[in-house]
Amino acid sequence: MKTHPKDLFEYSFMELTEFLEALGEKPFRAKQLYAWLYGKGVTDLSEMMDIPAGTREKLLRAARTDALAPADALRSEDGGTSKFLLKTRDGHFIETVFMKYKSRNSVCISTQAGCRMGCVFCASGASGLRRNLTAGEMALEVILSERLAQARVKNIVLMGIGEPLDNYNEVKRFIENFTDDHGRDLSRRAITLSTCGIVPGIDRLAAELSQVNLAVSLHAPNDALRERIMPVARRWTLAELLAAVERHYEATHRRPTFEYALIEGFNDSPAQAAELAKLLRARNCLVNLIPLNGAEGLSPYGAGAGAGKPMRGAGEDAAQRFREILGAHHVPATVRRSLGADIGAACGQLRLRREEEVL
Ligand code: SAH
Repeated sequence: MKTHPKDLFEYSFMELTEFLEALGEKPFRAKQLYAWLYGKGVTDLSEMMDIPAGTREKLLRAARTDALAPADALRSEDGGTSKFLLKTRDGHFIETVFMKYKSRNSVCISTQAGCRMGCVFCASGASGLRRNLTAGEMALEVILSERLAQARVKNIVLMGIGEPLDNYNEVKRFIENFTDDHGRDLSRRAITLSTCGIVPGIDRLAAELSQVNLAVSLHAPNDALRERIMPVARRWTLAELLAAVERHYEATHRRPTFEYALIEGFNDSPAQAAELAKLLRARNCLVNLIPLNGAEGLSPYGAGAGAGKPMRGAGEDAAQRFREILGAHHVPATVRRSLGADIGAACGQLRLRREEEVL
């Protein structure tokens, strides 16, 4: 039986060198190939003009570069944000968001097809985890979205579908390969990883990828409230999570971001802002307040006030008031609108729709 050739984006620079040697090729071809793949974002071997035709033919037979293919694209009103739906070879859909700023384009990539963390407000976990994405698929998310947006990125955020620390090994390989100086030579400081709070993963990140920025999804100022919306809160308390973030800061000296999705009548009151401020006071951190992006089909509140009603994002006034209270306690905070809201495609909603059509 014929096995499928491996995608070239799955290889580290060392592995690619060995692979070329095994094909009877000179090891320096790996440098050329890595520069084409990662540096120039070229996936079509026929465009790699400094590689001899014979070598390219061998590679065509022994490898491939089509782990992902574009399936759909949506552009926001302002033209700055594009959302790309990409399809894996085994038929899963994932989302990649490209954000254009004046000089700092960034891309938000998915790390899993689906997610098993089960946060009740998040569309990504609505149908569970399908599978982990590979390092090569994550690399192709960046490269294909750059091609589709006709621009290059300076920043990569691992904040799309999935929990990156639940797919640690492939995420690590992606970061290592993408920041290898034979390829893109992107600084690890330009990469931010967002987690729902997997404590051992935060410690590994601090030890093994110390330049990568950390963002932590908090969403509540105490354990009781957090447990109602995030199952992971039952595994690690806020005290344990914040201690891990502190260890990360001590080891890396990189300022962490805390994400806080403001849910109307649930976690957006002035008293809760003060409670959050007390929790984060005296830490060097930034709080990102994101009014929840409500979507049909999302789970309702747990027991208690609001039971049975769908969750809604906090209004502009409540968000600003929340930010001011944090500010008054010297906790820096910004209010962000969830990207893609105007194209009905925030936070896993696009993929969810498409998977439902397919299933
Ligand atoms: N699993 C990681 C990264 C993916 S989610 C994490 O939990 O951090 C990226 C961010 O979007 C997280 O902060 C997540 O809680 C938030 N998010 C998910 N659904 C949302 C929604 N409907 N509205 C606003 N933010 C949402």
